[in-house]
Amino acid sequence: MQLRLEGSVLELVQGDITLQQVDAIVNAANRWLAGGGGVDGAIHRRGGPAIMKETRRRYPEGCPTGRAVITGAGDLPSRFVIHAVGPVWKGGSKGEAALLASAYRCSLEAAVTHECRGIAFPSLSTGAYRYPVIKAARTAVSAVIEFLEERRAPELVRFVLFDEATWRAYAAALTSVTGSGKNRDPYPSG
Ligand code: ADP
Repeated sequence: MQLRLEGSVLELVQGDITLQQVDAIVNAANRWLAGGGGVDGAIHRRGGPAIMKETRRRYPEGCPTGRAVITGAGDLPSRFVIHAVGPVWKGGSKGEAALLASAYRCSLEAAVTHECRGIAFPSLSTGAYRYPVIKAARTAVSAVIEFLEERRAPELVRFVLFDEATWRAYAAALTSVTGSGKNRDPYPSG
């Protein structure tokens, strides 16, 4: 499923983030940049030790929740890994939505600064961090569209959703966010 905006495309695919051939892939990192399971484990496994070596050297303090830092991508097909720290879900009244939106915005900002034409995101916070996927999808899709409308870059933003239920939640969010929009034409393309 795709949404064309002026200067950019937002797309949703089901798949594995570590296989994406785009300039930057986003890691669902933790504050300590310490590695873990889920996306983080997959990225460090496939990317090799160079990535962790670089995070330790450049960001020994880690990264605050709602922010993102960038490294090289080791053996992965992308040029960069952007380590974004989404919030742990604590019921919704602890600023989770603002922190999640901020994690997406900071990642996009890092991608633009490093002249990335394409960036791929996983569904931040909806695994080990337990953020309800329907809510997370709405926040994620809105944050990305807002950024693209304002900045008209990067050229391609791809959400890579691991399982079908997550893909469906993002597809529903995209449809509902764009339903009343102008100059927007979401259409299914596989
Ligand atoms: P968090 O700790 O931010 O919740 P997780 O990595 O635990 O992050 O999970 C985030 C989402 O990423 C979940 O929907 C999970 O199923 C999905 N996921 C896990 N591995 C991959 C992968 N290799 N590519 C894309 N998505 C993945």
